[in-house]
Amino acid sequence: MEYTKGYKFRLYPNKEQAILLNKTLGCCRFIFNHFLSVRRDSWENEKKSVSYSETSSLMTQLKSDENHLWLKEADSVALQQSLRDLDIAYQNFFKHGRGYPKFKSKRNRQQSYRTHNDGKKIRVEGKRIKLPKVGFVKFEQSREFNGRILNATVTRTATGKYFVSLCVEEEIADNLRQNDDGQIGLDVGLKEFCTDNHGNTFANPKPLRRLSKKLTKAQRKLSRRKLGSNNRNRQRIILARVHEKITNIRKDFLHKLTTKLCRENQTIAVESLNVQGMMKNHKLARAIADVSWGEFFRQLQYKAIFYGCDVIKVPTFYPSSQTCCNCGYKNSLTKDLSVRHWTCPVCGTAHDRDKNAAINILHKALEMKNSA
Ligand SMILES: [Zn+2]
Repeated sequence: MEYTKGYKFRLYPNKEQAILLNKTLGCCRFIFNHFLSVRRDSWENEKKSVSYSETSSLMTQLKSDENHLWLKEADSVALQQSLRDLDIAYQNFFKHGRGYPKFKSKRNRQQSYRTHNDGKKIRVEGKRIKLPKVGFVKFEQSREFNGRILNATVTRTATGKYFVSLCVEEEIADNLRQNDDGQIGLDVGLKEFCTDNHGNTFANPKPLRRLSKKLTKAQRKLSRRKLGSNNRNRQRIILARVHEKITNIRKDFLHKLTTKLCRENQTIAVESLNVQGMMKNHKLARAIADVSWGEFFRQLQYKAIFYGCDVIKVPTFYPSSQTCCNCGYKNSLTKDLSVRHWTCPVCGTAHDRDKNAAINILHKALEMKNSA
């Protein structure tokens, strides 16, 4: 079975290569914006819509126009992709009711372009990766991969770092998992990241709390800086760096955790939390965003395919933290989130709130699995 997987690596371009990467970033933005005005003006002035293929032949003309010869310095596949991105933005607007396509600003925090692998134009050799028009760029391959590179997205962050994200088609191996019949129930929380049915807790990485405070401070400082000032610009970069650090620490933690869970278990039971819905609740929003459950579930889901395990989502209306896992008695007093420990008035079992919930989630999941 084949499967596509994403890999993201830091790029270390030399000065010339950075200039070439920046050129392609700039040209892609130019193409996107230029044809956005072409399509918009044609509709406003003549009520005529311009299709993707029309923009494609217009771009060919534009590239041979003597005022636009610089477009030839950029990766042509990436330019073509910009036209496709624009077309997708229009389709989203017309068919899916999204907003009208927006011009891409030079000041966007992140700039990126995507290019496809025609033949062997994108390939890894030793510690370098070959990118069209740029050549072999030094990169940090933090993870090995085996398969065909389908496309590459080059990103420049607000802090001026470069990354490449590769979409790789891989063959799924059958024997990746170590434990064939392991099963685990997880209760995700705010204090700890999650607790399993044995009472083990997986804590959020410690540096996150310190960095969160730093982030709040940096944000406050930025809001006091005058618009357009150098100070504000400098503060914007400081803020972006903190953001970047937080994202990296969190992602790293989630990757390690989800890989461990998938390697050690055949069945993983979780609550199917409505993360989007919960984000609307402002008190919880901050904390939920911090622990990034959405990202956790996303990783769990795709790794489960890779490792061949079952992730079973237990519906939220199931009262996992209120039910005694021993006798099934429903204790509505535990609805109060501050109740961490309770004793079942019927069977007398002492419960840790999170562990009890995790056990119930696992039981419910196994029940659902057996009846399916
Ligand atoms: Zn009980």
